[in-house]
Amino acid sequence: LFITIEGPDGAGKSTQIPFIKRFLEKKGYEVLLTREPGGTVIGEKIRGLILDKNHQEMSDITEALLYAASRAQHVAELIIPALNEGKVVLCDRFVDSSMVYQGKGRGIGLESIRNINDFATNGLRPNLTILLDIDPEVGLKRIKATKEVDRLEQEKLDFHRKVYEGYMELINMYPERIKVISGNQSIEDISKDIESKLKILIGE
Ligand code: C5P
Repeated sequence: LFITIEGPDGAGKSTQIPFIKRFLEKKGYEVLLTREPGGTVIGEKIRGLILDKNHQEMSDITEALLYAASRAQHVAELIIPALNEGKVVLCDRFVDSSMVYQGKGRGIGLESIRNINDFATNGLRPNLTILLDIDPEVGLKRIKATKEVDRLEQEKLDFHRKVYEGYMELINMYPERIKVISGNQSIEDISKDIESKLKILIGE
């Protein structure tokens, strides 16, 4: 099983991910928790290029291709082998993030991003995507209070609004795969909602 978790910056993914992992392990699954670039040497180097504050001149298409390249390595080196070993792979952000950040936020378009990522991942799609839904303004306020702001987080609020709209479009495109959970609840209630979606996935 391949499970991804998505949401605007500050939606609460990092808080929920350990709970998801523990829930699945209690059910007897071996879980590979990962996030792009997944600790692959090549992926880390690509990520360094993307996040480098000295690279303000990076074109939007370059950025999109670098994300796809990093993802290609992550899929080939980590995700596919783990799935083949029967593990559950739980990934913090995947192609959907590129769809909304590069496709909508940067304005490249969802279709182009889907095409380059289908090539990069050999068409790999998650069995389930948990989307934590938070108003972009609320999410950004949470981020600013908690962690260092990187090049991508400095982008203006309207960028994040576009990202949010992108997620809403994805829900309509993939209603079977993407399950939306309100990030405007207590941590406990978000966990409960996620667990009910996981139970359906594992047939409980
Ligand atoms: O929330 P998280 O720490 O996973 O986000 C990492 C940063 O990378 C975010 O600021 C997000 O805006 C950015 N990102 C992106 N395009 C992607 C994935 C993440 O711009 N495909």
